Amino acid sequence: MVCCCAFPGCANRANSWSPYRFHRIPLADLHLRMLWLSVLRMDVNTPPASLKHLRVCSAHFTDDDYIGKRENSKGQLHLKDHAVPSFSLKKSDICHSCHWILFSTK
Ligand SMILES: [Zn+2]
Repeated sequence: MVCCCAFPGCANRANSWSPYRFHRIPLADLHLRMLWLSVLRMDVNTPPASLKHLRVCSAHFTDDDYIGKRENSKGQLHLKDHAVPSFSLKKSDICHSCHWILFSTK
């Protein structure tokens, strides 16, 4: 299944060749969920049911947001409990085409 990153202006897609990890929006923690939604410029009152399919890619997190650098058995890195996406992309993580898309859309 291919899905897009929910971060405004980000064109990263979850597909088999993507170098990015895709993270679900935290639904259990209301405060954390509202922080994520405000960073994503979404309505903080969006019902959790309609957030289940959304993902945010790893370009918006720093190494400090992850628990160590260990991967679990599925090869997934885990975010810390209180990790929140950064407002801007790390420059090093922007590929040329994504960079173009980022700055050509409002
Ligand atoms: Zn993204």
